[in-house]
Order: sequence, then structure tokens, then C-alpha cells
Amino acid sequence: MTILLSTLNARYSHASLGLRYLQANMSDLREATQLHEFVIGAKTADIVEKLLAHKAETGVTIVGFGVYIWNIEETTKVVAMLKRVAPDMVIVLGGPEVSYESAEQQIVQLADYLVTGWGDVTLPQLCRQILHGPKPLMKVHAGVQPPMADIVLPYSLYSDHDIAHRTLYVEASRGCPFKCEFCLSALDKTAWPFALDAFLAEMESLHARGARLFKFVDRTFNLNVKTSLKILQFFLDKLAANPDDPVFAHFELVPDHLPDALKESIAQFPPGALQFEIGIQSFNPEVQALVSRRQNNEKAAENIRWLMQQSQAHLHVDLIAGLPGEDVASFASGFDRLVALQPHEIQFGILKRLRGTPIIRHTEPYGLVFDPHPPYTILATSKIDFPTMQRLQRFSRYWDLVANSGRFAHTLPILLGDSPFANFMAFSDWLYGKTDATHRIALDRLAGLVGQWLRLQGMSESAVNAVLSTDYAGKPARPADLPPMAKPDAAAAPKRQARHLTH
Ligand code: SF4
Repeated sequence: MTILLSTLNARYSHASLGLRYLQANMSDLREATQLHEFVIGAKTADIVEKLLAHKAETGVTIVGFGVYIWNIEETTKVVAMLKRVAPDMVIVLGGPEVSYESAEQQIVQLADYLVTGWGDVTLPQLCRQILHGPKPLMKVHAGVQPPMADIVLPYSLYSDHDIAHRTLYVEASRGCPFKCEFCLSALDKTAWPFALDAFLAEMESLHARGARLFKFVDRTFNLNVKTSLKILQFFLDKLAANPDDPVFAHFELVPDHLPDALKESIAQFPPGALQFEIGIQSFNPEVQALVSRRQNNEKAAENIRWLMQQSQAHLHVDLIAGLPGEDVASFASGFDRLVALQPHEIQFGILKRLRGTPIIRHTEPYGLVFDPHPPYTILATSKIDFPTMQRLQRFSRYWDLVANSGRFAHTLPILLGDSPFANFMAFSDWLYGKTDATHRIALDRLAGLVGQWLRLQGMSESAVNAVLSTDYAGKPARPADLPPMAKPDAAAAPKRQARHLTH
């Protein structure tokens, strides 16, 4: 073996699809290529030691790193140490975090080569040159995008252990035709589908090997309805054939495009089988126009309502605070509008400036101040000052703990009352004052603090205890105006989603 592909995943459960694509497409070098994944948080020296063990055992000479926003800092340390202890190792970088504005990056300066963009054909070409000459003259190699049919699908590289223990990422298409300026996919300008039959054959084989949890990374699953329907039908067939051994599939949707045929298919899924991640980001039309996001807000709201009322899918809906031109009042109104639609989870994200994204054009006119360190979170805008952005950050964290966790299903509506944003912000400010922390708050302590807050708002001790103990008992709390939902039976849904579906 002469080539090692490596990355630091955000969690052990995330199996890297990118590395597997690269390995699958190494062609004549495939047999000479191995993967070694790590998880962020590991000691730099331990990672370097393990990488070097490959060199000692099998003579690895090239190490390729997949660099992402979540691992750039740690990967930089690994590359720096590797270059000190084994300067003869050739380091090649790739991945979205080093594909744009890379000249100034320390990791790029430390590495020997960089492949920007798609690496499927460019990485093996580069490795061939490194191994057999002539020595590549350029350090930076712009990834060539091959026809989709030329890309070898990587799914057979998921091991039986991956299938049994990790989330399997899959993609039926790459790219996105929309141009939301905060998003890296805006640079794609279009989407490229893989041949559907070949893709579904790979899904069939994964399913036959025991895979039950499929996470689609397609940026807009419902772009081509005919394709979406075929993929959904694949899962419906699996559910019909194996009702006691169900599948769970996760897709990202654009919210304002849900034709009837798609709705009919979605409505057939039992609880615990389907999850949609839906980007709303902002309900403010002026902000949407500023960041070039095309979205019919009324249609989007109507579709989310339909999904909550007529389907059993688990909904995770995204909002972003800190977009140019959006003040707290506008964000609050969008948040309240979304809470009223009652999705299972609201991801309260804070804007990040991803390298290469066009949002930078608003920096001066809208006073955008970003943290210079990954993940480049927004610190202030002309509409939201730094202390307020800090409060929003804490709101986001506490929202995950209290709302998205599903642990306070009965208590949450009381906490939110008629003004969800304002009430939760008041709770968040108070909670931070009490704890001076946003992490490591044990569930028992959090429940005690939620109870204390409710009593401060005038709720009686007995009423507080009653509602909190109902939550502790895990009793269902589906809102009264939504139809009852069947409990997911033997569902493959992850625990947190299953908790929401019984609520
Ligand atoms: S936010 Fe979603 S719809 Fe917009 S460009 Fe990115 S992937 Fe496409």
C-alpha cells in the first residue's frame, strides 16, 4: 500500500462518504489505497503515530487528508507534526475547507499538494504523477469534474461494521441549482444526478447487507419529482416487504415544492421511517432577496403544515440568525411563525461565513463581522450587536437542550406561551445568569431550573411538578390540533427522533 486517505470525522458514527468516493475512484491505484478515519478530539500525536504505523507496515508514501470546517484546526496540527517527524511523506489535501481562499491557509502552506473541488479523477492522476513522475509542477490542482457516469459509486466500501454501527451517507445527486449566498452549494449553479438505476442497485445491495439508516446528502432531494418518487418507492417497497425490520431515510427538502404526487408517496410512510431537513433560514422577503434565496414563504409554510398534519415524517427545520439585513425583531417573528407550524425540531443556526461563499459581498454594507477562526461564526452585524449575538448563541444552545431534545415536550408549550421567541429569550438570559454555562448542564439540574423559572413566572408549585413529572415519565404530548400519530413500531429511527414521534 502506498496511499492512505484520512480524515477526522465529527463523530465516530459519521462514516466519511468523501473518502470512500476517492478510494473507489483510484482506478489502477485502488488496491494500493487504504482509508484510516479518526474522530475530532483525538490527540494529535496519537493520530500521527497511527498514520506512521502504516508507513512502517506497508510503506505508505502519500497521505491524503479530507479537510472540512469541523476538522481544519486539528488537521492543521496533524499535518504540521507529520511534516516534522516524517518530512518524506507526501501530503495531499482536499475538501471544501481548502477549496477556496486557500493560499492564506496554514495547512495549505504545510502540505505538498492541494486538490480543490471534485477529487474523483484529479486525485488519482496526481498520485500517479507523484509515484511515477514526472513530478507535478504545480502545488494546487483544480479538481476536474468528470461525467457523472464515470464516477465509481463507493457504497461497497462501507464495511459490515459501518453498516451495523454508523450512519451511512448516500447521494443520488450532487450540487444545487439555487444560489443562497451563505451556502457553498450556491457555487454549483446546477445539480448533477447519478444514474438512478445504478444508484438504487447500490442501495439494494446496502439494504441486503443490513443497512437500515440512510442519510441522503443531496442538497435538494425534491428537485426532480420523478426521481424523488422512485427513491421513496424504493423505501416503501422495503417497508412493505419487511415491516418488522424497517428502514429510516433522511432527506433535505426545499420547502415550497411539494407536488401532490410527492405528498401521496410521503403520506404512505409509517412513523419513524422518514425524516426531512427543511431549510427556511428566514421568512423575511427582503433578507431572502439580499442573500439571493428564492422561496415562496406561504407555500413553504403550507407544506410544513401539511407534512405535520398529513404525514408521519419527522421534521427538522432550519432557521439562520445573523443574515444581512435581519434584525432581532424580524428573526423573532420568523421564529414564532415557524413554532406555530409545530415542526418536531427547529435548528436555530447562527450564520457562518463558509470559505468561498458569496455572502462576503455584504460585509461592508451590512457590517458583517465574522470570527476569523473556524467555524467563522458571525459575531455582529449592522442590525445585531455582539452582546445580542451572544444572547442568540445561548438561545440556540438552550433551545437544543430544552426543545429539540424532546425531553420537555409538555413543559415547552407553557414555557413558550403566546410569544415563543420573547419568552424563550427571557428564559435563556435567566438560565445563563444562573448557570454561567451552556454546556454540561445535567438533565436533572436543567429540569430543576426550568421548574424554578416557571414558578418565577407565577405557575404554582404543584402545576410545575405535575408537568415536569409528566415529561420525566415520557408521556406523549402531541399538540391537540394535530392528528394522533401512531407510535413507531420497531422503527429504525434514531432515539431522539423516536422520542419526538411519540410526543
Ligand atoms: S441553502 Fe439549500 S437551496 Fe440554497 S444553495 Fe444551499 S443547498 Fe441550495
